[in-house]
Amino acid sequence: MAKDLYEVLGVSRDATEDEIKKAFRRRARELHPDVNKAADAEDQFKELNEAYDVLSDPQKRSAYDRFGTIPGAAGGGSPYGGGYVDFEDLFGGGFGMGDIFSSFFGGQATGRTPMRKEGRDMGVGLRLTLEEVAAGAKKEIVYDRLAPCPDCEGSGLGPDGREITCPDCRGQGRVVTVQHTFLGDMQTSATCKTCGGTGHTIENPCPECEGQGRVPDRQRVTVEVPVGIRDSQQLRLSGFGEAGMHGARPGDLIVTCRIQPHEFFERDGDNLHARANVSIVQAALGAEIELDGIFEDEKVLVRIPEGCQNEQVVRVKGYGMPKFRSESRGDMFVHVNVVVPKKVTKRQRELLEQLAEELGEDVAKERTPFQKLRDAFN
Ligand SMILES: [Zn+2]
Ligand SMILES: [Zn+2]
Repeated sequence: MAKDLYEVLGVSRDATEDEIKKAFRRRARELHPDVNKAADAEDQFKELNEAYDVLSDPQKRSAYDRFGTIPGAAGGGSPYGGGYVDFEDLFGGGFGMGDIFSSFFGGQATGRTPMRKEGRDMGVGLRLTLEEVAAGAKKEIVYDRLAPCPDCEGSGLGPDGREITCPDCRGQGRVVTVQHTFLGDMQTSATCKTCGGTGHTIENPCPECEGQGRVPDRQRVTVEVPVGIRDSQQLRLSGFGEAGMHGARPGDLIVTCRIQPHEFFERDGDNLHARANVSIVQAALGAEIELDGIFEDEKVLVRIPEGCQNEQVVRVKGYGMPKFRSESRGDMFVHVNVVVPKKVTKRQRELLEQLAEELGEDVAKERTPFQKLRDAFN
């Protein structure tokens, strides 16, 4: 029996979006693997993540309220909007909710380097079909990031809060310690743990973000994918990466386009390659055949020339991919596959025998018992 999603988050059924968000953060803090050592902490964290995925999305939430089932659950897999988004490992760790929580709960402050104030860039991969690349597409990306705290608008200050010079390092960001050794006094300097190297701390910090000015949150952003984009090409969404500390500059979201292989077409730059079957007669006499184009309902007329050979390539100008930032299109290259019939009827055999006679060619005249039997039925 699946648990009630509202119970998982610990909110009432009429909770506002804001209440759901806050409940999620509170529970996530309690369950985070760094804090919670219970054996099933990770499962609970996942469960919480799934509940939040549904209840933070107005459409999914209303479907859940009406039907009591988790929308899209049967499809399985990714909580990130239909499985279109992959987290890219651009920065050597990927970005899952767990990583975001780690960096939120002091993951960065424990390092040797001073805590950086600016938000980091984040990377996601966006899967696209070739049709979407041809027509251009608007895609929603759902991802988790450290977003500006809504309660303090990123300042990190609580009610009556203010920024003060760090008392431990007197604003230097580093603390110098002297060790007395038999070689003499050794001076070592380390990042100040109290302020994480920033040189100041906050008196009366915002309780929601614990003075960071940012909170883990699930974001939805719609990106417009330009027509004709290439695989691995990147789109930069300025300011949609990790939020900075205390309102410092946010990072960007870098979206790497991942174009899925197509069932019929192979893309080569702006050109498309396709295969087409033609009969031996069509190949010999020439023909006009119709193929589906890359656009919905587009038909491409392919002129098979007289005497066309197997593997011959027929070029159809202007039916390739639309070019990036251009009005024109590439070409379509049709690779011809001449199909020899595996079976012929009695009548077809007679016609082919006549053709052989006309060409002065010897063909097998002997009929196998099986062929004779089949002829009798034709
Ligand atoms: Zn300090
Ligand atoms: Zn705050």
